[in-house]
Amino acid sequence: MNYIVGIDIGTTSTKALLYDLNGKIYAKSNIGYTLHQEQPDMAEEDPNDIFTATLNAIEEVVSKAQLTDGKVVAISWSAQQHSLIALDQDYRPLTRSITWADNRAEKYARQFKENGQGMIVYQHTGLPIHPMGPFYKLLWLRQEHPDVFGKAAYWVGIKEYVIWRYTNVLKEETSMAAATGLLNMKTVDWDDEILKLAGIQRKQLPELVEPTYNIVGIRSEYAKVMGIDDNVHMVMGATDGALSTIGVGALEQGTLAINIGTSAAVRSFVDKPVVDPKARLYCYPIMQGKYLVGGPINNGGIVYNWAHDAIFGPEQETAKLLKRNSYDLLTDIAATVPAGAGGLLFHPYLGGERAPLWDANARGSFFGLNRQHTRAHMARAVLEGIVFNLYMTTISLVEVAGDPKDILVAGGFVQSALGRQIMADVYEHEITIPESYESGCLAAMFLAKMSLGLESDLSGINKYIGKEKKYQPNEENYLAYRELIPIFIRLSRELSSEYGNIAKFQREFPKLYN
Ligand code: ADP
Repeated sequence: MNYIVGIDIGTTSTKALLYDLNGKIYAKSNIGYTLHQEQPDMAEEDPNDIFTATLNAIEEVVSKAQLTDGKVVAISWSAQQHSLIALDQDYRPLTRSITWADNRAEKYARQFKENGQGMIVYQHTGLPIHPMGPFYKLLWLRQEHPDVFGKAAYWVGIKEYVIWRYTNVLKEETSMAAATGLLNMKTVDWDDEILKLAGIQRKQLPELVEPTYNIVGIRSEYAKVMGIDDNVHMVMGATDGALSTIGVGALEQGTLAINIGTSAAVRSFVDKPVVDPKARLYCYPIMQGKYLVGGPINNGGIVYNWAHDAIFGPEQETAKLLKRNSYDLLTDIAATVPAGAGGLLFHPYLGGERAPLWDANARGSFFGLNRQHTRAHMARAVLEGIVFNLYMTTISLVEVAGDPKDILVAGGFVQSALGRQIMADVYEHEITIPESYESGCLAAMFLAKMSLGLESDLSGINKYIGKEKKYQPNEENYLAYRELIPIFIRLSRELSSEYGNIAKFQREFPKLYN
């Protein structure tokens, strides 16, 4: 038997899973690194730390698996989108990896939004007008760090850099290239007009390849550390967004893939490039005839974490006494009040928001409080608010991709019965929870099988996904949500004119928090 490592370079850690060719997991590892945030709006990572984490993660799964028969034949990559690193002529980093969470290009994204050029970039590339995009980071570096900008021989993302470190080959696959905002989504080639706007040249970017492209052979010193052969296949893989959609089996237009983990996302594959007239969704080519359209949402489970920590201290004490998980206890408390939380609405925009608002200044609020409301109502309103916001993003997705036949939902939020029921009720639709674990690494493993000629097309992933469970909407609950969702949406429009003012106050008077 031979083996494949599926590896995902996330924002806070790298996860590796070692699979056999039947998709059985033999070992897992997870290695964290620092997100550097020394300045406001900065979110950088050290490319060398990440490279080392990948090396250690692979070494760890290989040694844990204690393989006696066969060997690791491929390593296949998933990674965070939108990272940017400047390299010099000798491929040495001139910057750290500037991640999707870095907002220092905000001014340039705003200018492009206001002068209409951002819409042109969106229509060409499918990248929403937001500082997360490498295109906007290039504008910022060109203006504010001309020294670095001038010295850069190459511009790459973290996955391209790491694969280069192993192989000395610099390539970029379609999905990651698409997320830079420099790739024309119709021609699936670097877009010369957009490169000109960014002030860079084609020769500064890696050569484009398909996600199933593989490079045979890695540097022997690294192979030795990891305990694998140096003629292993390095499979380019794809973005975490694309792979976690493939990894739950949402392969066709009409199947919506929703993930609610720390952040959240609503995604669907479509057959042709689509643009949203209001630029609320990205659209990225992934593989031949497959485009991923979706909305990335900042405020997922992280908002529930905030409520748990900041509001529900007493419940944490109770959970300790009862020897229960405090998140589960809080969810049980929320379930004691009916759907709709007695008309208490919660806007979850604690950290600004990408889809559906695309406003970094957005802020959260409770709305509709009355004297009957209790802590249980507040807990339920927080959970419902997270899902209402996903639903609002889904409305724009349905406008371009059509009504979904199936809705697949994954992530920590739907591990709870209440989380699942709120999803089914808000969407008024059966929801399916796939059993598959670490869908990004699973799909990376599957791309490696395609790359090695062991699978012919994506539909083969279904046999690795495992059992699914289905949950039905409850009429009494969705009738309440039908009334509340329009208020939630109208309210977000009403409040939008004040977000900038309150965010400005919070920036200017940070001392008032202490
Ligand atoms: P990640 O995106 O980091 O992989 P996970 O998919 O593991 O995240 O999901 C983590 C999120 O799940 C946390 O932010 C947490 O708020 C949420 N969560 C944990 N327990 C519950 C629960 N009982 N009900 C709803 N959400 C929960």
